[in-house]
Amino acid sequence: MELPAAFEKRMQDMLGAEYTAFRASYNEPHKRGIRLNTVKCTKEQLERVLPFTLVQTPFSPLSFYAPTDTKMAALPLYHAGAFYSQEPSASSAVTLLAPEPGDKVLDLCAAPGGKSTQIAALTGDTGLLWSNEVVRNRAAILSSNLERMGVRNTVVSSVYPEMLAEKLGGYFDKVLVDAPCSGEGMFRRDPVAVQEWSPEHVETCAVRQLAILSSAAQCVREGGILVYSTCTFSTEENEGVVQKFLE
Ligand code: SAM
Repeated sequence: MELPAAFEKRMQDMLGAEYTAFRASYNEPHKRGIRLNTVKCTKEQLERVLPFTLVQTPFSPLSFYAPTDTKMAALPLYHAGAFYSQEPSASSAVTLLAPEPGDKVLDLCAAPGGKSTQIAALTGDTGLLWSNEVVRNRAAILSSNLERMGVRNTVVSSVYPEMLAEKLGGYFDKVLVDAPCSGEGMFRRDPVAVQEWSPEHVETCAVRQLAILSSAAQCVREGGILVYSTCTFSTEENEGVVQKFLE
């Protein structure tokens, strides 16, 4: 698989001796997964009717590997909301957030709803789940996924994070920022992410992420938990280190 030269150079600098193994991983098929929706059914009920065996992933007790050629939308259980199609590692952010029954949880960048629906499964659809998605048509997809997964204890909004920080400062026990990013971790399955990538795009994302994170920090109560996640590797986006300010 061809990758942008500037990206390869950055990864070489970042990974050193580990780069060869990292580069070789692009020739392997990406892993697929399903996440059990305990709002609707148990693992045993799901297993009884699925055409494949559930193999646990290390990222969440609700996450299982699915065969790479699985056609999720062809399974009636998918439409019934018994599970959500989610890459195994994507389930780790909510594992860290560790939502519990009764928690008031804000998912600030929520569409299409993979992590919101995982949060609801862990709270048992109790407390409050506030799912926000700034892009209006993506908020509609989020609502439809929450509905399909049977999540009822939820509010869906479509506003900029600053507005939530202003109106609901300190209100939430737990806040998740699954930030819009340059998507370096998506290259293997999304050619558009490869085409759109550039060092400038990484920087633009980093600036936007810092603004979102600052609003998120205002929304969480004292002693609460804030989890920040991306599907990218760059230090600018993950550690807030913008290269040009270091030179
Ligand atoms: N958490 C989602 C899930 O698990 O299904 C995926 C979220 S995706 C990585 C990031 C989301 O942030 C996108 O839906 C995007 O529209 C939204 N977004 C874009 N710009 C934003 C901004 N300025 N503030 C908040 N969210 C933004």
